[in-house]
Amino acid sequence: MFSRARLIYKQNHLLGSNLKVVIRKAFLNQVKMGDSAVKSLNANLWDSDPELFDLIKKEKKRQCSGLEMIASENFTSMAVLQCLGSCLSNKYSEGLPGQRYYGGNEFIDQIEILAQKRSLEAYNLSPEEWGANVQPLSGSPANFAVYTAIVEPHGRIMGLDLPDGGHLTHGFFTPQKKISATSMFFESMPYKVNPDTGLIDYDELLKTARLFRPKLIIAGTSCYSRALDYKRFKEICDDVGAYLMADMAHISGLVAAGVTPSPFEYSDIVTTTTHKSLRGPRSGVIFFRKGLRKVNNKGEMIMYDLENKINQAVFPGLQGGPHNHQIAAVATAMKQTKEPAFIKYQQQVVANAKRLASGLEAKGYKIVTGGTDLHVLLVDLRSAKLTGSKAEYILEEVSIACNKNTVPGDKSALNPSGIRLGTPALTTRGLIGRDIDTVVHFIDRALRLAREISEKSGPKLVDYKNVLHTDAIFKVKLESLKEEVEQFSNQFPMPGYKEY
Ligand SMILES: *Cc1c(COP(=O)(O)O)cnc(C)c1O
Repeated sequence: MFSRARLIYKQNHLLGSNLKVVIRKAFLNQVKMGDSAVKSLNANLWDSDPELFDLIKKEKKRQCSGLEMIASENFTSMAVLQCLGSCLSNKYSEGLPGQRYYGGNEFIDQIEILAQKRSLEAYNLSPEEWGANVQPLSGSPANFAVYTAIVEPHGRIMGLDLPDGGHLTHGFFTPQKKISATSMFFESMPYKVNPDTGLIDYDELLKTARLFRPKLIIAGTSCYSRALDYKRFKEICDDVGAYLMADMAHISGLVAAGVTPSPFEYSDIVTTTTHKSLRGPRSGVIFFRKGLRKVNNKGEMIMYDLENKINQAVFPGLQGGPHNHQIAAVATAMKQTKEPAFIKYQQQVVANAKRLASGLEAKGYKIVTGGTDLHVLLVDLRSAKLTGSKAEYILEEVSIACNKNTVPGDKSALNPSGIRLGTPALTTRGLIGRDIDTVVHFIDRALRLAREISEKSGPKLVDYKNVLHTDAIFKVKLESLKEEVEQFSNQFPMPGYKEY
């Protein structure tokens, strides 16, 4: 630039001083404008985009003033938010540490290695027996990478049915449509819970697995309030020669703290998200076994070959550049799992869920499986003469966030009869003991109102919403309940930045 400027300057000098001055001025102007253009593009969000910043502030306010009971959500730490907002977002680093397709990865390599090491440490795994891939962008891509790695196209897998508490990525499809890509590219056969007990029917799973002969069985849930019997899963897998993949997305925080049984002892592969009970960034991790898989009946040693297959399925199979800001955030979240405060937090998550379940039960609500061992519970609203949609709607109207969910025995997944409630996010904000009783009281008041409204409106959701928003008495009752909920909620601290 400057040598070119000098050249122009020299040329101008030859052309005569007037023109020279004009051109020189124009050039300096350009440099200045370029400089200020970059500067203005680097302004704070609140100066450069007040419209968007305002929406973020509104969302922050919503998060602070409501009760967050969506079982898969949590409020992450300042350290995680700082990683996510760091310069690491700028860097390309396709490949693995030490084997990158781009230069400049000296520190990125160290960060990814740290994330891998801490992920193993969080679950007390030895690097001789286990490896970790920390690049999956989230839980769903992590699961799909595993299937891509070890199941051939249209190979067979089994997972818990979505309406029974499984996850979409475990192969959900309906008679009309293949919903998840897992069911498009692989053949999936669901297993179910017993509709009377709400518990996984392991005997049926064994029978079906013997007929279906899957390559992979998934032990993992998005809505199930009891510990899984991984030993039983492993026996079934051994019986049919399948891999066992545990998907601990919901419970990975509880597992790290040792408050629920760990899937690692029995699993070949474990996948997880990092933003649910673990309280990390939105991301995913795949753990895979290394070394000896088994000794066959001829006495030959069969070794695991998962490491390369899984690493290559993640990249270059499915993803491009890793999200290094997320990987750093995973590293710092995994470090936190080793702090005594983290273990206390996870114990409190479970204690709060148990108290929530027994509180609601005491008010006459039916809890599927009769309670919970974990961070989540499922309320069956059929005897309360409410649907999941109506309950979810009124709770949202009073600033309590949860989600409708099918309960065992539900005929239609479109009109579920329950709500799923979780305690990780409330516990992060410091709710304990009596606070949970207050939450029970709020939920009960909202649901009793819902029933009154429903009696007036009839079964249809549109009519129900209409009555809810037009009936003067209901409107006043809802407004005052919402105010109480928000006042209560606002007392509790929220981690992260103050305003956004
Ligand atoms: C949440 C969840 C996932 C997927 O996570 P995303 O990050 O939303 O893709 C996968 N498996 C289970 C069991 C989950 O609960």
